[in-house]
Amino acid sequence: MPDAPEFLDEPFFPEGMSQPDPDDPIAKGFWDAAKEGRLVVQACDDCGAVQYPPELNCHQCYGFEMGWRTVSGRGHVWSWVEVEHPATPALQDFGAYTVALVELDDLPETKLLGNVIDAPPGGPSIGQAVRVVFERTAEDLVQPRWRLAEG
Ligand SMILES: [Zn+2]
Repeated sequence: MPDAPEFLDEPFFPEGMSQPDPDDPIAKGFWDAAKEGRLVVQACDDCGAVQYPPELNCHQCYGFEMGWRTVSGRGHVWSWVEVEHPATPALQDFGAYTVALVELDDLPETKLLGNVIDAPPGGPSIGQAVRVVFERTAEDLVQPRWRLAEG
């Protein structure tokens, strides 16, 4: 069972960041779940394979009946990078931030890319536990982020 969702009170990134399209037909289920504080990964209705990021069809059986599986939102840092160069003007004065590949505890073969909002200088440790948190970045958009966790 997922933990009770945590929504950030304050935005992590500054105003002016580019935003994903929450109505993108392939990823809409992901964004709809995030609005409810649920982390989901795409799962094939035919063969059960899970995949991230969402795609038009299944990479295992090539079927087009794709659904969503809710995961606990707990994972471990599989790899990470500290981004120092401001990729957009909005990040000009923001400073370095950490992007991690997080291996999900429920689906160890599935790794999600995201920001670790409280990574220490020098980055998190490989294998460090994280849990998902949700940040509303627009009226109709909530984005999952990661926070360091126990375990
Ligand atoms: Zn499939």
